[in-house]
Amino acid sequence: DTPAFESDTAPALLTVLSGPSGVGKTTLAKHVREVHPEVWLSVSATTRKPRPDEVDGVHYFFYDRPTFEDLIAEGEFLEHAEYAGNLYGTPRRPVGQRLAAGQPVLLEIELQGARQVRRAMPAARLVFLAPPSWEVLEQRLRGRGTEPEDVIEARLDTGRIELAAESEFDVTIVNTTVAEAAAELVELVTGSPINH
Ligand code: 5GP
Repeated sequence: DTPAFESDTAPALLTVLSGPSGVGKTTLAKHVREVHPEVWLSVSATTRKPRPDEVDGVHYFFYDRPTFEDLIAEGEFLEHAEYAGNLYGTPRRPVGQRLAAGQPVLLEIELQGARQVRRAMPAARLVFLAPPSWEVLEQRLRGRGTEPEDVIEARLDTGRIELAAESEFDVTIVNTTVAEAAAELVELVTGSPINH
């Protein structure tokens, strides 16, 4: 395997942020966008029901399953996966347009999708966001208060599998504090140095 990057810290145009549910991927991705608005955060499609604060077309494109399956059949997704009973996917065209324009793109997706992106776009950098401990992950997922117990259990089960896949990623960031983790991610996505 030839390395896809000149060094571990040179920015890659396409960054994939993955890691178990509840670890804080969305918060970190939003933080990167706030400090570097030139970074484009992909809006995924899903069959999951919107949470109360979620807006269609902003947080996700919400589709019913038949519509989503049609979009898969039409090749509209760069990657897609089933996660805890729902389908999720990255619309292909907007990602291609941004990359062609030289804009850094950030995808916040689960493990199976990250693997598909690796195959489809070997130059992508895969970043794994790890919790400081299993206990912290469990607390964060429950503390979010957005999912019923059976959904939390399903997400924790998947989380165990996802944590075991850490070695497949190019870089691991441990989400101890949002500020530190965000600084590391910003550097990977944009090449901006971290201020210590
Ligand atoms: P949530 O339902 O909590 O918003 O997301 C559940 C999981 O699906 C998270 O791990 C999230 O990163 C992942 N996810 C969100 N969008 C996509 C996507 O487009 N593709 C894939 N493969 N996973 C996604």
